[in-house]
Amino acid sequence: MSQPPSHSSGPQLAVRLAAFEGRPAVVGGVGKDPVNEPMIRHWCEALGDSSPAYAGPEAVAPATMLQVWTMGGLSGHSSRSEAYEELLALLDGAGCTSVVATDCEQEYLRPLRPGDRVTFDSFVESVSGPKTTKLGTGYFVTTRMDVRVDGEPVGTHRFRILKYAPAHAPKATHTSAAATRPRPVVNRDNAGFWDGVGRRQLLIQRCLECRTLRFPWLPGCNACGSGDWDTVEASGDGTVFSYVVMHHPPFPAFDPPYAVGLIELAEGVRIISNVIGVPYDKVRIGMPVRLEFVRYEDGQPELPVFRGDLPGEVGG
Ligand code: ZN
Repeated sequence: MSQPPSHSSGPQLAVRLAAFEGRPAVVGGVGKDPVNEPMIRHWCEALGDSSPAYAGPEAVAPATMLQVWTMGGLSGHSSRSEAYEELLALLDGAGCTSVVATDCEQEYLRPLRPGDRVTFDSFVESVSGPKTTKLGTGYFVTTRMDVRVDGEPVGTHRFRILKYAPAHAPKATHTSAAATRPRPVVNRDNAGFWDGVGRRQLLIQRCLECRTLRFPWLPGCNACGSGDWDTVEASGDGTVFSYVVMHHPPFPAFDPPYAVGLIELAEGVRIISNVIGVPYDKVRIGMPVRLEFVRYEDGQPELPVFRGDLPGEVGG
């Protein structure tokens, strides 16, 4: 049914992982904001839930918002425990470098109301043995968070992740050699850009009013609102500002894993594109890249992509 990732130490690893069960994952967590009406309203609007229970002077928060009040936002939580960091590092070290959230379960002990201030602790409830899934072989880690208000339990939130070693050939079922790549969507706002690409030019819009460059193409200037613009041609030099490596989900006509870069052009604007000429796992932030145009399929337009240079390699 299952096999440990090839680069882990099998039974020994299982023993080390099991030792994390019962250890803290988050200690002394405090909700960033009290339970509040604006967040309840945004949640209800996003989910299309117009129940009167969630509005007015007697409003309660939707029970399923339990986790929301514990979330760290963009700046994250500083309350993650050393034990949990160690557990993740151990799994990373065993080759299980990818992670996917699989499911959660919640129990509600009493409704939360605007003004309630939550505190929470979480611990590692279980670490599974090695499991092989379509994504790859890895370990399910379940944490259980207890949420309180004024020290009184109000609910629990169980959260399960799979830390896994990505299986490298996920193409069997979804990707067929016959699949074609989606064509670029050309519309009135970006037609000039694609015209430029057809001439092997990467054109950046420039506001005629305030001279601000913008990319991707938009009808108006974000800096001053002017709708008057012309274009400048990118020199083609850039650097990798950020990137992701696509493994999942498989998408017809694409062959994962591959690197998708956020390229900062020498002119200062950024474009999302493929990074070519460098193995997907060798792409790095700050890597210099150079514009090229590539036609991936007959009958498709050429696309602007960026060729990277591995540091230390001469020529190319
Ligand atoms: Zn402007």
